[in-house]
Amino acid sequence: MKKTALITGSSSGLGKAMAIRLAKDGFNIAVNFRGEPERQDALDVQALVRENGSEAEIFGCDVSDFSACKEMTKNVKERFSTIDVLVNNAGITKDGLLARMSEEQFDIVTAVNYKSVFNMTRYVSGVMIKQRSGRIINISSVAGVYGNPGQFNYSASKAGIIGMTLTAAKELGARNITVNAIAPGLIETPMTDSLSEELKSRMLDAVSLGRFGSPQDVAGAVSFLAGEDSAYITGQVLVVDGGLII
Ligand code: NAD
Repeated sequence: MKKTALITGSSSGLGKAMAIRLAKDGFNIAVNFRGEPERQDALDVQALVRENGSEAEIFGCDVSDFSACKEMTKNVKERFSTIDVLVNNAGITKDGLLARMSEEQFDIVTAVNYKSVFNMTRYVSGVMIKQRSGRIINISSVAGVYGNPGQFNYSASKAGIIGMTLTAAKELGARNITVNAIAPGLIETPMTDSLSEELKSRMLDAVSLGRFGSPQDVAGAVSFLAGEDSAYITGQVLVVDGGLII
């Protein structure tokens, strides 16, 4: 029987690339999308997963909503029987300098990026504890490790994810559940499309490999942390940034 991976925010960008990669690795995929405007994108990802030989189902859920995450976890478990991999990938930015940042900008980014990791891990870990196995992969950011001007809210949310990763790794290790984080650098997705050309070119100057990352670069790291070769790795932050922060 195939294992199942639940990937939050997998209707576009990195999450979509992860869905396709894990489908190629032999996982069935639970594709999470936020709401109606993203339904068609999620259906497209479902079709791509099927083209790659695995089964996929789409699940609409705003991951900042605690009770909706409970419901989605129940539905994914009913559909696929197990949840073997959880990738907490959904995220947004609402950038601005601290002196001008609104309470709303702070609250929405921390709810979607950070509280969602609690919401999903809270429920999916229960399923994994009963299975006595599981992999949890949290998508942080180099902004959570090193900070980034204009991203006070975002870097707080991404640093918080690292704290949750470490504690969950300690709590869940005895149940054969690994918990790791990935900290991507500058990756070309719809999220980074909106950055100014000037900022992108300044950041690119600092990337040792001299290029932006692709969604496939991050999906490869997810594949490793979801697979057998990483069975003895937990509580780690894997930086996938082409040498941006060395
Ligand atoms: P993206 O905007 O292409 O994708 C984000 C996904 O999250 C979308 O599918 C969106 O619908 C979903 N989403 C947003 N709010 C949601 C909600 N409330 N509930 C459910 N789904 C929701 O961006 P991306 O670049 O693919 O980002 C994916 C993750 O990678 C994010 O956590 C982001 O912070 C992180 N990241 C991205 C980069 C980068 O350079 N692109 C760098 C570091 C970290």
